[in-house]
Amino acid sequence: MSALLESYAAGSWFRATDDGTPLLDATTGDEVARISASGLDLAAMVDHARTVGGPAVRALTFHQRASILKAVAKHLGEHKEELYALSARTGATLRDSQVDIDGGISTVFSYAGKGTRELPNDTVILDGGTEQLGRTGLFVGQHVWTSRPGVAVQINAFNFPVWGMLEKLAPAFLAGLPTIVKPASQTAYLTELTVRHIIESGLMPEGSLQLLCGNPEGLLNQLGAQDSVAFTGSASTGATLRQHPAVLHGGVQLGVEADSLNCSILGPDVTGDDAELDLFVKGVVAEMTVKAGQKCTAIRRTIVPAAMADEVVAAIIAKLAKITVGNPANEGVRMGALASLGQRDEVRKAVQTLRGSAEIVFGDPDHVDVADADAETGAFMSPILLRAAPGASEPHDVEPFGPVSTVLTYETLDEAIALAARGQGSLAGSLITRDPEVARTVTLGLAPWHGRILVLDRDAAPESTGHGSPLPVLVHGGPGRAGGGEELGGIRGVLHHMQRTAIQASPDMLTAITGQWIKGSVQRIDDEHPFRKSLAELRVGDTIRSASRQITLADIEHFAEFTGDAFYAHTDAEAATANPLFGGIVAHGYLVVSIAAGLFVEPKPGPVLANFGVDHLRFLTPVKADDTIDVTLTVKQITPRNSAEYGEVRWDAVVANADGKPVATYDVLTLVAKTLDS
Ligand code: NDP
Repeated sequence: MSALLESYAAGSWFRATDDGTPLLDATTGDEVARISASGLDLAAMVDHARTVGGPAVRALTFHQRASILKAVAKHLGEHKEELYALSARTGATLRDSQVDIDGGISTVFSYAGKGTRELPNDTVILDGGTEQLGRTGLFVGQHVWTSRPGVAVQINAFNFPVWGMLEKLAPAFLAGLPTIVKPASQTAYLTELTVRHIIESGLMPEGSLQLLCGNPEGLLNQLGAQDSVAFTGSASTGATLRQHPAVLHGGVQLGVEADSLNCSILGPDVTGDDAELDLFVKGVVAEMTVKAGQKCTAIRRTIVPAAMADEVVAAIIAKLAKITVGNPANEGVRMGALASLGQRDEVRKAVQTLRGSAEIVFGDPDHVDVADADAETGAFMSPILLRAAPGASEPHDVEPFGPVSTVLTYETLDEAIALAARGQGSLAGSLITRDPEVARTVTLGLAPWHGRILVLDRDAAPESTGHGSPLPVLVHGGPGRAGGGEELGGIRGVLHHMQRTAIQASPDMLTAITGQWIKGSVQRIDDEHPFRKSLAELRVGDTIRSASRQITLADIEHFAEFTGDAFYAHTDAEAATANPLFGGIVAHGYLVVSIAAGLFVEPKPGPVLANFGVDHLRFLTPVKADDTIDVTLTVKQITPRNSAEYGEVRWDAVVANADGKPVATYDVLTLVAKTLDS
């Protein structure tokens, strides 16, 4: 008997009290492992997450969490070979395993990078700017995002045992939530090995990651209003979870990512000689065969102009005929097995239903020649291409979760869009066209039905990531049938786990609450220029108010000549007078900003190392010749970088004229040494 998978629960590895259910190798039918959660205390797991994991994660800033994620990704990268070897037992070829394992690791890296670059080194995120709620600015509003003191439960599908876990774990961890992973049983051995490596690395705080191998019955009963469940799998399990009392009445947030009938559309402009035809055919064949078509984003509906259908079908068949099916560990094999014999039965059933309105033009669902494997014991299946009769409904309703796609035809663009919409909501769609008008019409027609749309032509092709690949920086999820959930999308995926709250208070209170200086709150001016203070000494609210300086016509002329910016508003009095906004010569905006820099900098060497940018620059009032300006610079946000000897300081800059009217506002971004001797 093979080993029983263990769960990682409440700080230790747990082995079930019974023998469990066998999990079989997709290729050989041999037992890989057994699975059971008998005797597992689910309430203790949830409690451990809430009382140990959650507080430990939330004690860390976003940057500290991000650096842990980076270390986890690096650590998993060192164990890839071992993971690939086990992954082969799920039926995956090396290329399939890379999609799952490398894809998962790079998603964690991506979140580590985004967390460091796009989130503050703090535990609260500001959402948008302040809203002045009273007449004079004594009472303002600010939206903030905070971490929930809850648990993120993930229930995953069998097809991506590593990516599926990591793409949910990384955003939740960054958001400050502990995670309980419940992998699909069929491939849970690969998830278990991955979690084991993470736990053994000691990188993640105890309680922030737990693993439930086996039946999760009763888990949702333990959850409450601060908890969430992110589910990927069949629409029917998704529907069961939606009905759960914890979701219906208990306030548990449920995200569903279910099966969807994604389509790829060939534009009406593409002819037999175009490179786009080849791109289209390659895309369809790749989506049918990578992971043996067991991808929630795979192309189930291949939508082509009626006039091109014969040519397209012939081209797809020619490519499918070259696909070698067999032992995924064999280098010559292009497509491995389905995850299990049960899954193959499901796909065969789906193909049978599709045959109600479509004929098979390639492949035999009941027979395939296999390389280096036994077709009886392994869950092998030939790629199957069907061609639907006009008006067919089954291809829009039935999802064959395997290497199957159905060709449908259209006469007009409206018809193509209507066909796509009959899928009732998809994760991903693609359009292959060279024509910008087709691109706009079809994309805008498809967008309400899709979470992601790839528009592909020969220009984008060299760098295209393909139809089926969810990317950490883009949203993954779709409306309607696809479940209505949304994951990833960079920091959006983090914010799904957090609570947005509108805070109303005085500017000083908001500065204290958010840790960022809010306009209207105290500005501290002391004898020392803030540019002489290290990061450790600077405080939010430290301010310098500069001396004033007149900007003369000679200054403007000099700047025009020196930079070459001789725009008429700065050089031609008559034309400038005719300009309805200026009514005369005005200073260049960049001259104003340059002179402002001259007014606020402290020139001697010191802790300020560099000015690395300006955000939100707006020119509000024109500066005419002989106007006088001054500048007020206030420390708005201090962000120590974890690994460096310096941090970032964001300064609020307001340049005003002699009447006190703001002429320019912006944020100045600097790098400042952490200590004076660093
Ligand atoms: P399921 O919906 O049966 O399973 C998905 C996950 O939900 C698994 O972890 C499963 O655990 C768990 N689960 C099942 N029942 C419950 C329940 N009552 N409460 C809590 N968790 C539950 O999908 P399968 O993985 O079996 O795949 C079936 C079909 O789903 C496929 O053929 C395909 O059509 C579709 N699918 C869609 C995917 C997508 O990404 N959109 C991905 C994979 C599948 P366990 O494995 O232990 O039963």
